[in-house]
Amino acid sequence: MALTWRVHATLSRSAANGPGTRFVVWAQGCTLGCPGCFNPETHGPGGDVRTVEDVAAEALGTSGIDGVTVSGGEPLEQPEALREFCGRVRPSGLGIVVLTGFARREIEADPALSAAVETADMVIAGRYNARLRIGTGLRGSSNKEYWAITDRYGPEDFAGVPESEIVISADGTISVTGMHAWEQR
Ligand code: SF4
Repeated sequence: MALTWRVHATLSRSAANGPGTRFVVWAQGCTLGCPGCFNPETHGPGGDVRTVEDVAAEALGTSGIDGVTVSGGEPLEQPEALREFCGRVRPSGLGIVVLTGFARREIEADPALSAAVETADMVIAGRYNARLRIGTGLRGSSNKEYWAITDRYGPEDFAGVPESEIVISADGTISVTGMHAWEQR
């Protein structure tokens, strides 16, 4: 049976969610409860229920991207879906970035969480701390750790990521993504 994934949203091309132009998936659901979280609408159990295969096909069918970013919500609260998505994207050569509230030590201590990110290139890991908020580098707060799984990306690749972007969709919906968007919430 096809593995499903609760997804808050996807964005075909983003310049504010990692190096270059990226397809972004925001997973739905998070129970970590970081005070001052920027994205509370992603915490609940709702979202669009999609097959991982479908989301991966959407990403792989998007032209002109350098990689994918998985954010949330909390991607690692659906570790099997994240693992399958990364595994489906990996052969394409697209870079993979995962943003998570789990700390590296928590991920490394849990086989399911470790497996979920084993084919990612960069994991930005750790709870968001509003007192340590920063608007650059995609970490959100300075305590979060760049964890390079491969040598594809280093912290320097995130330094130039724009703080925000305004996206106008085909139906006229306007949304803001990126670090400055976090600050505005
Ligand atoms: S892990 Fe992310 S989505 Fe979850 S509460 Fe913390 S900042 Fe918000």
